[in-house]
Amino acid sequence: MLAGGLLSLGSLGLNQIAPQALRLEAAKATTETQVAARPGTAYWSSASFPVENFQAYTSAFGYRQSPYGGEQFHYGLDIAAPQGSYIRNWWEGRVVEVSDDSACGTSIVIESGDWTHIYCHMQGYVTQEGRRRSFVDREGGLHIVEGQDMPAGARIGRVGMTGRTTGPHLHWGLKYQNDWVDPGIILQAMYDDQETASR
Ligand SMILES: [Zn+2]
Repeated sequence: MLAGGLLSLGSLGLNQIAPQALRLEAAKATTETQVAARPGTAYWSSASFPVENFQAYTSAFGYRQSPYGGEQFHYGLDIAAPQGSYIRNWWEGRVVEVSDDSACGTSIVIESGDWTHIYCHMQGYVTQEGRRRSFVDREGGLHIVEGQDMPAGARIGRVGMTGRTTGPHLHWGLKYQNDWVDPGIILQAMYDDQETASR
């Protein structure tokens, strides 16, 4: 369905990116080495860092002690930023879901080919408009409808504390062909490409 849009990504489409990302995913234990060894082509130059006013990575992808007790797998990367900081769309895609009734809080899900990216704990709320749901953050000037296309880097929300969270941050989840991927690996690859490009 998105094939037409993906052709406009430039010389490299997501389908060419995917095998590399999967190799990185499979080599999670040796992430640094694998990412460093990848070819220096600018696979990721179209991608946007997902939040403005970055402060810190507060929780990595993987097993962790839950702040609510016990150990659990954390299916995403937590990126702290001041309350109200704008969240940016990682990759050009289509809004497939907005919701505000889970631990993820007010959230938006975007599909870009085989990739799905999920943004949690945003400010604002979700409302029904006809047959579609939409996400509204009036103070942030945002109104996004399910089915809408979003360019990379577009503002799609603001950091908040909705859902289960102990402080303002973006919980950023990434899936490739429905399997969770460590967003930290992708961010590292993006940084490497930027460094290569600026050399
Ligand atoms: Zn999280």
